[in-house]
Amino acid sequence: MKSTQKLLDIDGSQGEGGGQILRTALSLSVVTGQGFVLRNIRAGRKKPGLMRQHLACVRAAEAISGAQVTGAELHSTELVFVPAAIRPGQYQFSIGSAGSTMLVLQTILPMLLMADQPSEVILEGGTHNPMAPTADFIQQAFLPLLQRLGAQVSMQLETPGFAPVGGGKVVVQVQPWTHLQPLVALLRGPLKLLEATATVLNLDTAIAQREVATLEALLAEYGLNATCRVDQGIGEGNVLTVAVHTEGHTEVFSLLGEHGKSAEHIAKRMAGLVKHYLHQDAVLDEYLSDQVLLPMALVSWKTNLNSAFTTRTISEHTQTQAQMIERFLPVSIVLNGGTIKIQMQ
Ligand code: AMP
Repeated sequence: MKSTQKLLDIDGSQGEGGGQILRTALSLSVVTGQGFVLRNIRAGRKKPGLMRQHLACVRAAEAISGAQVTGAELHSTELVFVPAAIRPGQYQFSIGSAGSTMLVLQTILPMLLMADQPSEVILEGGTHNPMAPTADFIQQAFLPLLQRLGAQVSMQLETPGFAPVGGGKVVVQVQPWTHLQPLVALLRGPLKLLEATATVLNLDTAIAQREVATLEALLAEYGLNATCRVDQGIGEGNVLTVAVHTEGHTEVFSLLGEHGKSAEHIAKRMAGLVKHYLHQDAVLDEYLSDQVLLPMALVSWKTNLNSAFTTRTISEHTQTQAQMIERFLPVSIVLNGGTIKIQMQ
């Protein structure tokens, strides 16, 4: 590799030691122009190294930034990535497995938002994966929060894709982020609406009906608004999603149906998640907290303005994400009790 740039040396085994370290490094490398060497990729996972989904993130970041890359192979545990310039436009990325399209989107969104022209991206693979945001979570919780930071992104779920088959497709439009705004979300507003959707793809509709019936009984005190949906596509799957709309904020919880776990079991777990969230005062739940840090840090970097929010829990993901962001951007992320503040150094 010819680059004379001094590369950031990142240890992929730090903190929670998963794919998030890779995705954040890719996003912020392209946005800042800072190349990196990532060693010990996903050392904290059972099957370390680059899986197909991570490789798709690397390939997508490479295409968008014209990067020089070495080590982009399946199971590779070391990657060198040196970006050139951001190239907005039309893209299509297929994971080639049921790997999460939403995690590829998470990787490329910051780059495309910082471009000076709009982009449209087609992503193919899984849209509803365990251990990843579902398409519903991104559409109903993450993108509205991004919009409050001034970003304009829309996404259509054309076909859902579940493991192990995949076959899902989303189309995403990204406008240049010209008006970056900070966000302060410290107090949760009153509950306005609780919406549940139980979806089946090529499975018995009774599964969705039983999930809804159980959930309605368990969340009766909140006046749940519940519907069943039958999706079209290949493979099979079931997802139960609840959107908790409070004044000014929407939190989304998704659970995937699993073989050997009854519909009632999934609904009970969901009721637990929703009650757990509603029985405390923080605005953001665990996953939205780690995912919003990067966009909020970009706002602070570009505008010098602070963002802050309260979170139900500071996960290891959130802590690792904060450390990674501080390696690339001149911001401080202060984790203090249940409050997170993002500010310039
Ligand atoms: P990693 O485990 O490092 O690959 O990162 C997983 C990412 O998926 C993190 O950004 C999490 O916030 C996100 N995530 C995991 N589970 C969920 C879920 N149930 N809902 C929303 N996001 C999730």
